[in-house]
Amino acid sequence: MRIAVIEFDKCKPKKCKYMCIKYCPRVRMGDETITINKETKKPIISEELCVGCGICVHKCPFGAIHIVNLPEELKTPVYQYGENSFRLYRLPMPKENHVLGIIGSNGIGKTTALRILSSEVVPNFGDWNLKTLDKEKVLEYFRGSELQTYFEKLETGIKAIMKPQYIDKIPKAISGTVSEILERTDERGVSEALIKRLGIENCLERDVKNLSGGELQRLAIIVAMSREGDIYYFDEPSSYLDIYQRLNVARSIRELAKEKTVIVVEHDLAVLDYLSDYVHILYGVSGVYGIVSSPMGVRVGINTYLDGYLKDENVRFRSRRIEFDVLSERQKPVGKTILKYPELVKKFSGFDLHTDSGILHEREIIGIIGPNATGKSTFVKMLAGIETPDNVEIETELKIAYKPQYIKKDFDGTIRELLRSVGGDESGYYRSEIIEPLELERILDSNIENISGGELQRVAIAVCLTQEADIYLLDEPSAYLDIEQRLNMTKLVRKKIENSEKCALVVEHDIVSVDYISDKTIVFSGEPGVEGFASQPLSMREGMNRFLKDVGVTFRRDHDTKRPRANKIDSQLDRKQKSSGEYYYIKK
Ligand code: ADP
Ligand code: SF4
Ligand code: SF4
Repeated sequence: MRIAVIEFDKCKPKKCKYMCIKYCPRVRMGDETITINKETKKPIISEELCVGCGICVHKCPFGAIHIVNLPEELKTPVYQYGENSFRLYRLPMPKENHVLGIIGSNGIGKTTALRILSSEVVPNFGDWNLKTLDKEKVLEYFRGSELQTYFEKLETGIKAIMKPQYIDKIPKAISGTVSEILERTDERGVSEALIKRLGIENCLERDVKNLSGGELQRLAIIVAMSREGDIYYFDEPSSYLDIYQRLNVARSIRELAKEKTVIVVEHDLAVLDYLSDYVHILYGVSGVYGIVSSPMGVRVGINTYLDGYLKDENVRFRSRRIEFDVLSERQKPVGKTILKYPELVKKFSGFDLHTDSGILHEREIIGIIGPNATGKSTFVKMLAGIETPDNVEIETELKIAYKPQYIKKDFDGTIRELLRSVGGDESGYYRSEIIEPLELERILDSNIENISGGELQRVAIAVCLTQEADIYLLDEPSAYLDIEQRLNMTKLVRKKIENSEKCALVVEHDIVSVDYISDKTIVFSGEPGVEGFASQPLSMREGMNRFLKDVGVTFRRDHDTKRPRANKIDSQLDRKQKSSGEYYYIKK
């Protein structure tokens, strides 16, 4: 069973003069294996005639063609967008009063699955002209499964409510103050309690245009929860939130599930673990095809995802497994001092920041953790020379490369030109060190205006790491990245720093990423928006204990993968760890 997918947005026949057609051996022999669509002028590949030689895949200068062999049992997709387009196989099964977590890369079909489950589109079983629900086909495809009953229920009308992924777009779509918006949308009478719980009381009278990312995220979540519906879908509810807020959101979602059906896509594994009852893994090739796994318990599901191998289905979907160190305190010798900074003080109107002094060493990565609005970005900006402290001047000849939390699209040109402007080149080394791990190849010729949030994040990380510098400062590099990309990013930063005379500071809220990336940690505390304190760089153990004590959550290590897992509040382990003061590590 062979499928041919063309990413039509990348296909530019005017530029390539149909290289795929020119070199296809079947076409050369006179077959109509690749023809030209008269309307769009783009190529069409006949999946019946194609012999899968892969020549067109290599010849296409824009990497637009994918030829993939799939097992015979995947003959009929649940949904296909069009000829030579993305297709989705099988569907996740939502259950009333449960939280279904979906794990998978971006572009693997999560939204497509939801559009089907919410009856926005009908399952077309590969016939993209089919626009109405064909009950016989539904019966044939889902016979005997719970999805059969689900589609029967769909006919009576199911209302789906969605919290979108890219919350930055919200101010363009709606207007008014936070309280005006919530007044308009609260059909369930829950917004007041949620405002308190998620802590946005201070911004009720603020216009939506003036909210920070974290505030917008919480508003979007409250709006979704206040609407009346049957099935609720939260696409990445944790971006821009600190850990404390993430866990509050997770608890609120769990409560919603007591009355409703909930589906969550989340790339923060600790949060996904904490909030889901069960998970489906979506695997395949982004933009080409996606397959939905059978449902699994949340622990097994996440471990299976890290392992890259689905035992039940005997499928390896990643060549390597992702492993965590048993102890996050990496035993490596301390490098030479790069920067010794004094205690820093910075006051804005209504906000005071005090930081301890500290030393940054070569080959060291420091994870910066703490609640939002306690001055993490300000601290990073002071080190970067973008803000000046009130009490001292940081004198340094050191070069600092900085990736801000909110990335501006203020470059007029292509990504290739942007990377070149900061020192990127066309060498194989640069390609394998930066371009490939960050999956930038296919957008190099795109204009920065036209790329998605996740792509912009990866470009910004590349811009930062490409620069020649002594200190690399990355503020929330995991926002909008999927799990795979997060892990690639953490590896990339480690590789860059570990064998160099440089150091990195990374502001991060994703516990799994912090755990994976950091040698030491600086912990922020204080009252958000009022005052903030920063510790000196601490060992992971000391830092995480200090931080998690503030948050009131304990973590244990999964015994198979060694990944951090949040303990359920008041569970036996939670109580035991709290009483011994070990919020993050368990003494053996
Ligand atoms: P996810 O939600 O997992 O990021 P989506 O379900 O949004 O993935 O999309 C999966 C793939 O389906 C996309 O990479 C894209 O190639 C394709 N796709 C999405 N929408 C359309 C559309 N309207 N027409 C054609 N292809 C589409
Ligand atoms: Fe032609 Fe080979 Fe491409 Fe198939 S894979 S369309 S046979 S070039
Ligand atoms: Fe050219 Fe590639 Fe499009 Fe074929 S698929 S027409 S080679 S851009």
